[in-house]
Amino acid sequence: MSFELPKLPYAQDALEPHISAETLGFHHGKHHNAYVTNLNGLVEGTEFEGKSLEQIMIATAGKSDKAGIFNNAAQVWNHTFYWHSMSPNGGGEPTGELAEKIKADFGSFSDFVDAFKKAGATQFGSGWAWLVVGKDGKLDVVKTPNAECPLTDGLKPLLTMDVWEHAYYLDYQNRRPDYIDTFLGKLVNWQFAATNYSAATS
Ligand code: FE
Repeated sequence: MSFELPKLPYAQDALEPHISAETLGFHHGKHHNAYVTNLNGLVEGTEFEGKSLEQIMIATAGKSDKAGIFNNAAQVWNHTFYWHSMSPNGGGEPTGELAEKIKADFGSFSDFVDAFKKAGATQFGSGWAWLVVGKDGKLDVVKTPNAECPLTDGLKPLLTMDVWEHAYYLDYQNRRPDYIDTFLGKLVNWQFAATNYSAATS
């Protein structure tokens, strides 16, 4: 009944040269795995045992006495979502309904890119940049600190980009903007975002 580390949706070296096998080895095999191990230890014997990740995140968000459980549960969820937000054949622009919606809500694809880059670059310290469906049904770009996830604010995530240093430091050192450019240009998985958009709006 305990949580397990999900497999990467591609080989560990599949995102090279943009993200190295070494980065994914640490990021998935060490960091993500540690969140899973910590979470299992924290929920064992508590009211949260047997609950889904989403249920645990919603029940513990914003509660300082449950911060350890929230942080580990959300980091397990966020990282699984992040692996799927990238693809070895990613990058470029979306097509179809999601592309039209981006134009309608941001003005143009390039306006979305500017907003997403800004969110990632200006998240001070550790955190995440997200494309979400907002409560008003419009697409929005948001950033969250540390483990926080827009899901617990009632927003519907379509894509995420990890901007913790462990996501890029081995490959890009301090050059977070270069990692962000590469994420959008070469890695972002628009098919995953389109599937999430369909589910969020159906
Ligand atoms: Fe991470």
